[in-house]
Amino acid sequence: MSAPSDGGGIAYLVGAGPGDPGLLTARALELIASADAILYDRLIPAGALDGARPDADLRYVGKRPGAKSMPQEEINALLVELTSGGGSVVRLKGGDPFVFGRGGEEAAALLERGLPFEVVPGVTSGVAAPAYAGIPVTHREHASGVALVTALEDPAKPESTLDWPALAAFPGTLVLYMGVGGLARIAARLVAGGRAPSEPVAVIERATLPTQRTVTGTLADIAERARDAGVRAPAVTVVGPVVSLHEQLSWAERRPLHGRRVVVTRARTQASGLAARLAALGAEVVEAPAIRVEARASDGPEIAAALDAIESYALVCVTSANGAALLMDTLSARGGDARALAGATVAAVGPATVAELRARGIRADVVPVRSIADALAVALDAVPVAGLRALVVRPGEARDTLPQALAERGASVDAVALYDTVPEALGPALLERVSSADYATFTSSSTVRYLLDALEADGARSLAGTRIASIGPATSATARELGLEVHVEAARHDVDGLVEALVTDASA
Ligand code: SAH
Repeated sequence: MSAPSDGGGIAYLVGAGPGDPGLLTARALELIASADAILYDRLIPAGALDGARPDADLRYVGKRPGAKSMPQEEINALLVELTSGGGSVVRLKGGDPFVFGRGGEEAAALLERGLPFEVVPGVTSGVAAPAYAGIPVTHREHASGVALVTALEDPAKPESTLDWPALAAFPGTLVLYMGVGGLARIAARLVAGGRAPSEPVAVIERATLPTQRTVTGTLADIAERARDAGVRAPAVTVVGPVVSLHEQLSWAERRPLHGRRVVVTRARTQASGLAARLAALGAEVVEAPAIRVEARASDGPEIAAALDAIESYALVCVTSANGAALLMDTLSARGGDARALAGATVAAVGPATVAELRARGIRADVVPVRSIADALAVALDAVPVAGLRALVVRPGEARDTLPQALAERGASVDAVALYDTVPEALGPALLERVSSADYATFTSSSTVRYLLDALEADGARSLAGTRIASIGPATSATARELGLEVHVEAARHDVDGLVEALVTDASA
């Protein structure tokens, strides 16, 4: 069906994939971003709706804990109603909408009312789960076909609807959706139908998520093994010789941070790089931005004085990426640009600061090997500063080490704070996830301080069972002062160094 030209509504039945946000299709993301209304299920990836329009009408139509799901007829009726109202309506479902997703019924309901619809296929869990478990569902030597089967029959149907003897005789891999509770019955029927009791079976739980788990066995013992392991829905069961490849080809569960819950405390605007790196290594990332960067008023006396005199400084030291960005923004707001620093030696701490300056057209002249402010003072030993005017651009609560070191060498030093890091509110649900994390990462003293404050304010939750990972000695010192034991400290004081140290610790 094609999009309406008369401004009438259109429904999109969209598959959201099995759970890993990276498996949402480009088309799904595009439709989510432009939808007027979205009807979504429980098993959609975390953050799938982040790109929805702020004014989009978001309706949860999935199962609520302890409650029944909305009956399918009601979902159909709501879909028809919203689509009749005009605009673009996305029906977002886990996996693929036409694979055990009741998408066919929804399409029929729309058709019946003469409403246009399109179907956007998704990555179905029956193929994604084995893929993430290192099990190719077909294989030149092991399986020339695959059957996708629901192990949970419509309760209204008589028990015999599924032809178990035919399934048992199927010459290929069987992928069973749903019904993990019925494994014993299923295995028995397949054996009764002629499959060998020794046939390999894998049950893949929460596939493609950081908590994915695979339990393997044979038709003879898989029910017992899955029960012992406490496997629960959502899970798919794979039956066939291809399952033997899991041992060799399993990859997702072997990623160095697989299944580890890691807290990222950086400000929201800075967290994405670290969060993405950790997620790619298999971690379940909990973003708990304990701080927020708040720019100071650019017409305040301290800032105005420093910027009025900007061209008079022979040395300008920038100690953070935020400082670099705000320095250039403030210059620009005052009608200036990078040329204001043309005559100065520019010194910068840390690769992020260097990169930010580069993006603004400035190549730093002095960059210390170690990314800490104290190291900059040492690096500046090479620069004769006596008698020169120097400006230190830094956060509001910074220590005085660098200005002092420069003053001791005879420079005339001004320090200017362009911003403050202020605590960011964190809700109780988020703090609960934080306090049960395997690791908490800290990239500055203020993230330590404010996260601990937030935990304490929320009924004295603590990080007692959590390993503490710090980006460098200053952050570690603050953590220790505040009573934390630091388990991991980055050897290189940047995000890469922090990730590296975490991986080393996790694989120890
Ligand atoms: N339309 C979906 C299936 C919905 S039925 C699809 O194409 O994937 C729900 C069943 O899908 C669950 O009982 C489970 O068997 C399977 N499933 C969905 N997400 C899963 C996941 N992340 N890991 C394992 N199984 C999953």
